[in-house]
Amino acid sequence: MAQQPKRGAGGKEARESKEPAVGPERKRRVQTEGQFIKCPNRSCSQSLFIKDIEKNFHCCKSCGHHFRVGSRRRVEITIDPGTWVELFDHLESIDPLQFKGKRSYLERIKESQEKTGLRDAVICGEARIEGIPLVFCAMDFQFMGGSMGSVVGEKIARAIEHGTKNGWAVVIVCCSGGARMDEGVLSLMQMAKTSAAIERHNAAGLAYITVLSDPTMAGVSASYAFLADVIIGEPKAMIGFAGARVIEQTIRKKLPEGFQTAEFLLKHGQIDMVVPRSEMRGTLAKILRYATVQRQETPRTAKARSPKPSGSSARAKAEPVPELVGAASGGSAKKSRRR
Ligand SMILES: [Zn+2]
Repeated sequence: MAQQPKRGAGGKEARESKEPAVGPERKRRVQTEGQFIKCPNRSCSQSLFIKDIEKNFHCCKSCGHHFRVGSRRRVEITIDPGTWVELFDHLESIDPLQFKGKRSYLERIKESQEKTGLRDAVICGEARIEGIPLVFCAMDFQFMGGSMGSVVGEKIARAIEHGTKNGWAVVIVCCSGGARMDEGVLSLMQMAKTSAAIERHNAAGLAYITVLSDPTMAGVSASYAFLADVIIGEPKAMIGFAGARVIEQTIRKKLPEGFQTAEFLLKHGQIDMVVPRSEMRGTLAKILRYATVQRQETPRTAKARSPKPSGSSARAKAEPVPELVGAASGGSAKKSRRR
């Protein structure tokens, strides 16, 4: 370990003694710095050109590892170009508890705002996916670990209500470590607030889909992430409530291989599907189209199609059809507003 810098320095000297330290060679060396990243999947560890990763939906082209995606980029790769109309962007956190750790809560907020260019850990907006109107929300892990404080909860609740009012589906891409401890119980209250908004959206017969990306944990997974009609996981995403180590210490048992991964949850009936990011847009479009078509059918024809026993689905709720159909018959008043 101690030899490492010495060797590096020696190499640099050797190179510099051979060639003059000017000209294109040196320039090229500087330019490639920070343009490559090593795949964090240990069985892959490939050096990847960052621009290639970006073009490949932020996935390793060798092993398919899914890198985390910022909320703005998530919008870009998921919705129809030019259809984004951001909502509730003016909402910003205050410091209701005057919380102070090493630094004050407001300082940390400001730092995250400068780092990400966002006001808080979620962005919400009107959008279209393959022409279908919806409300789309994307969380950002770069902003204080995607944690849910009052602003995140309020934006999510308002976004769902906006979808309900307009008769649109809501899609939320979750990426969060959980509730924001700096806001204490006020963060926990967001779980109830968002859940109530989802219930009203559901009662109006409208579709709600979540995409659980890495990580979706704690208060977020215990509220709006898992209340959707269709729950989609991204490959290998860590999804759960408490962390694996905490659970192990509590139950004093070794947890099974792959615990809290999207694949594990799919196998055990907690989510409906695992979809690679490159196919996410198409999959969302398919589900949205299906939900919209069902709503446009008359209750009678819909009823005739609804009893479809399926053994393929891991979870009873995985079949969104009956719910959407049942709700469609009650939501006919809203239909006139839709095209
Ligand atoms: Zn890889």
